[in-house]
Amino acid sequence: MEFNNVTVAGSGVLGSQIAFQVSYKGFNVTVYDINDEAVSAAKTRMEKWQQRYKEDLKATDAEVKEALNSMHFSTDLKEAVADADLVIEAVPEKEAIKLDFYQKLAEFAPEKTIFASNSSTMLPSQFAETTGRPDQFLMLHFANEIWKNNTAEIMKHAGTDMTVFDDVVAFAKQIGMVALPIYKEQTGYILNSLLVPFLDAAQNLLVNDVADAETIDKTWMVATGAPRGPFATLDVIGIRTPYNLAAAKAEAGDEKAERVASFLKETYLDQEKFGIESGEGFYKY
Ligand code: NAD
Repeated sequence: MEFNNVTVAGSGVLGSQIAFQVSYKGFNVTVYDINDEAVSAAKTRMEKWQQRYKEDLKATDAEVKEALNSMHFSTDLKEAVADADLVIEAVPEKEAIKLDFYQKLAEFAPEKTIFASNSSTMLPSQFAETTGRPDQFLMLHFANEIWKNNTAEIMKHAGTDMTVFDDVVAFAKQIGMVALPIYKEQTGYILNSLLVPFLDAAQNLLVNDVADAETIDKTWMVATGAPRGPFATLDVIGIRTPYNLAAAKAEAGDEKAERVASFLKETYLDQEKFGIESGEGFYKY
C-alpha cells in the first residue's frame, strides 16, 4: 500500500522533525496537536529545522519552504485523520496519554489507516488492543535529528500483519531512512538493547574505580576502531538521561545503579556539567 496522506500526531521535539522530513520527501502531511499553542510551538521548531536542512543537507530555500508551507495543521483529531493512510504517533512518553490517544484515534480513523508509534521505551503490545486494529499497528521509531541520524526501527508485535510491516519498511526507505526491520517486540529496539548495557558497563567500571573515563574510552576506540567511547557518547546524549535511567533503577532497589546515580548527580549535574550541550561533561568542549 502507498501512504500518500500521512498524519503526524504530537508535534513536539520528534513529531515536528518527523512531519518535516515526511513533507520534505513529498508526502501530504497533516500535523495534529492538542491546541493552538502546541501548533504554534511546532511551527517555530520547524523554522529551526528549515535552517538545519539548509546547513546539513544543502537543501534549497525553495525546498524547505515547500516542506513547511505544504503541511496542514489541525487541532481536531477527527478532521486530521479523516483521509490518513498512515498515522505516526509522537505524543508524550506516558502510557495513559498514549492509551487515551489510541482510543480516540480508533474511533475517528477510517478503516484503511495504519497506525505507527514512535515510542522509545514502550512495547506495541501495550497499545495493540486499544487501537481496535492490532493487525494494522506497529512501531516506527526514529532518532533525534532525523534528517541526519536517519535510522527507522520498524518493530512488529505478534499480531501485526506482515504486509503492513513490509509497507511501513518501504515507506521508511521512501522518506530517506535506513530501515531496520525488527520481527519481534523488544524493549529498547535494537539500538538501546545494545547501547544501554554497554553504557551501564562503562559507568560501573568508572564508579568502581577500575579505570578512568579516558582510559575506558581509549580501550574501546583503539580495540574496535570506533570513533567514540562510552563516555564521549554519554556527553552527546546528555548526562541527564543516564542519570534518569540510573535513578529509576536505584528506586527499584538496584544498588549498583544507586552508586552510578549519586556519582552522576554529585560530579556532573550538581556542577551543571550536562555534556556537550553545556560545554562540559566527562570531557570539555
Ligand atoms: P514532546 O514532549 O517534545 O512532544 C509531545 C507533543 O505531543 C507535544 O507537542 C504535545 O503538545 C503533544 N501532545 C500531548 N498530548 C497529546 C495528545 N493527547 N494528542 C496529540 N498530541 C499530544 O515529546 P517528544 O520528545 O517529541 O517525544 C514524543 C514521542 O517520541 C515519545 O513517544 C518519545 O519516546 C518518542 N521519541 C523521542 C525522542 C527524543 O529524542 N525526544 C527520540 C525518539 C523517540
